[in-house]
Amino acid sequence: MATSTILGFPRIGKARELKFALERFWRGEESEAALRTTAAAMRAEHWALQRDAGIDVSPSNDFSFYDQVLDQSALVGAVPERYRWAGGEVGLETFFAMARGAQREGLDVPAAEMTKWFDTNYHYIVPEFATDQTFALSTRKPFDEFAEARGLGFTTRPVLIGPVTYLLEGKRAKGASSLELLDALLPVYVEILRGLETKGATWVQLDEPALVLDLDSAAREAYAKAYAVLRKASGLKLFVTTYFQGLGTNAGTALALPVDALHLDLVRGGDEFLTLLPQVPASMSLSLGVVSGRNVWRNDLSASLTKLEKATEVLGSDRVWVSASCSLLHTPHDLTAEMVLDRELKGWLAFARQKLDEIVTLTRALNEGRSAVADALAASDAAVLSRAQSRRLHDPAVRARLRDQPLEKAGRPTPHRERGAKQQALLKLPLFPTTTIGSFPQTTEVRQKRSQFKQGKLTTESYESWLKEQVKSVIAFQDEVGLDVLVHGEFERNDMVEYFGEQLSGFAFTQNGWVQSYGSRCVKPPIIFGDVTRPKPMTVAWAVYAQSLTPKPVKGMLTGPVTILQWSFVRDDQPRSVTAHQIALALQDEVLELEKEGIAIIQIDEPAFREGLPLRRADWEAYCTWAVDAFRLSSTGVKDTTQIHTHMCYASFNDVVASIAAMDADVISLETSRSQMELLDAFVGFKYPNDIGPGVYDIHSPRVPSEAEMVTLLDKATRLLKPQQIWVNPDCGLKTRDWPETRAALVAMVAAAKTMRKKCAGGA
Ligand code: GLN
Ligand code: ZN
Repeated sequence: MATSTILGFPRIGKARELKFALERFWRGEESEAALRTTAAAMRAEHWALQRDAGIDVSPSNDFSFYDQVLDQSALVGAVPERYRWAGGEVGLETFFAMARGAQREGLDVPAAEMTKWFDTNYHYIVPEFATDQTFALSTRKPFDEFAEARGLGFTTRPVLIGPVTYLLEGKRAKGASSLELLDALLPVYVEILRGLETKGATWVQLDEPALVLDLDSAAREAYAKAYAVLRKASGLKLFVTTYFQGLGTNAGTALALPVDALHLDLVRGGDEFLTLLPQVPASMSLSLGVVSGRNVWRNDLSASLTKLEKATEVLGSDRVWVSASCSLLHTPHDLTAEMVLDRELKGWLAFARQKLDEIVTLTRALNEGRSAVADALAASDAAVLSRAQSRRLHDPAVRARLRDQPLEKAGRPTPHRERGAKQQALLKLPLFPTTTIGSFPQTTEVRQKRSQFKQGKLTTESYESWLKEQVKSVIAFQDEVGLDVLVHGEFERNDMVEYFGEQLSGFAFTQNGWVQSYGSRCVKPPIIFGDVTRPKPMTVAWAVYAQSLTPKPVKGMLTGPVTILQWSFVRDDQPRSVTAHQIALALQDEVLELEKEGIAIIQIDEPAFREGLPLRRADWEAYCTWAVDAFRLSSTGVKDTTQIHTHMCYASFNDVVASIAAMDADVISLETSRSQMELLDAFVGFKYPNDIGPGVYDIHSPRVPSEAEMVTLLDKATRLLKPQQIWVNPDCGLKTRDWPETRAALVAMVAAAKTMRKKCAGGA
């Protein structure tokens, strides 16, 4: 008999109950006991949902108050010294201090570093190891949650981050290898496994997604060693999961592990599993992730079943588990909560709750034959067909336009150096021109007005006239402060992707499609379901209005094609590159119209460019090519005199600097202040030819930087770049800041630019 299972369920709750409970607790409005009661009720509900859907084996310990990697750090007692943990149990206070920082009597510490989990938009707290790191069992969480489920009648499979992935995704002091800590770490894992066995567990799930990365021989040996130890540790059956990609060159390592089940991602891994089937040792079962845990499309059950049947032919059904590609953490909770999406579109979608049914149906088909689920298969086939044939998806004009615009000719024919001279003749900017990244403080008032307008409590007319007042005052403010290139402030935008998605065709929006981004933060990504066009101008009126208020240049502000793609649920019936290029064409229409209406500088933000980089190096070049093409396509056709800017947030740029140069924006602004301009090294080593605005202050903190500090940073920049190349700007948009600190910081920033101008004029 094949068995149905999932690797994890979304934990934020169908109405984001966990988010609100956490935030009440953090504000001190609710006790720890109340928070724990809410969490327990949610877990009970999620297990019951899985049972009612017919899932055979549910996970436990997939719940977290913040992040499952941080849970693992707490579990093994990996708490950096600055959190002053005295040993013993890692309580919630220490746990949240690591997650969010703490400012209280006797403890004033920032949060631990957070970064993206593989290529998802989920952020985890990076484990931090000392050179002499030791480990000790320090929480009871997996045991307690297993027992809690048991008490409710569920025998679950507790989930842990596997030891090798845990170490590889962490950082050790002084750049030393974390893998060297394996010997110190394994005894704690042994203790955990034995503890779970004592509690009555029969299986344990060890998540090892690092098995899909490019691994060196040390990492591969670590796998062999770790699992040999864990095998002997207890009588528990080991369920090792891999996801987000196929195993590639690590297949041999994975299949040689002495484990009872290995999970493969069949959505991202494609047909690789077919070649692996004959190599699976007789003692190993395979868990096959055929239902996407990363996207919202309804599963093509017939196609999945064909794959699963190939596996049962070779392995027999007893050795097959049916599952989602990865934890359902990355999908929204329940499609039936969507009241606004139309029926047709809803018929093409499946959220976590619906994916449970898909997994159960597929398992039944394997065990009882296709006829047992004939209705479900017919409905799935009909949905697949309806989507494939829908007029809403396919716009022949978009396809023809893309075909007629050769990608190799995308971009600007005149080199930056010549363009730059023409732009300067027009713009007459001083040395070290000052600007901002686009948004200005989104005060409570701004957010209130927008939501009143959305709820229909404010007429379009009064909302727009209020917005105009905001633009007017932010232009006056920038003039007064003395900035050189102004912005309109982005007060009309809720979110840099949603704002555009709402105006483009081919996009749909959910009411409740929340996905955890980090801690209590959730995002609600748009769904790109069809060919993308821009029915009418999106930003032109605001840019033109802002420009009418000042003789100084005002930048037009757009979100770039790669970022719109990265932060959406993307259609799965064509390559991502095609969708990106369609978005780029829609943006091109906007860019050309802004230019026609007299906007001389246009910024196309690409903060998600770096995060789109594939997990395996072998796939980088293909990605960089289409992603760069997409950016270039969006500004194809502009005059030499129009200056194109872009912006990227904090990332390690070393891997992509050549591609950033190939994007060929006239000016790029970057987040660099936290690393004291170290990030610029990538650009210097490469001899980046165009202009750069290295952020001179961190907008994530309310702290107001001094003029002198910024001069120091700019001095550093002039040692790395030519003064003529340097722009002066904050690290990122100012929307999370308040007005007083924004004013003070920008006044100091303009003063710093003036000081630099004098220095360079004097010194030159
Ligand atoms: N223009 C956007 C802003 O200023 C850019 C934000 C971003 O890069 N994340 O808010
Ligand atoms: Zn940014």
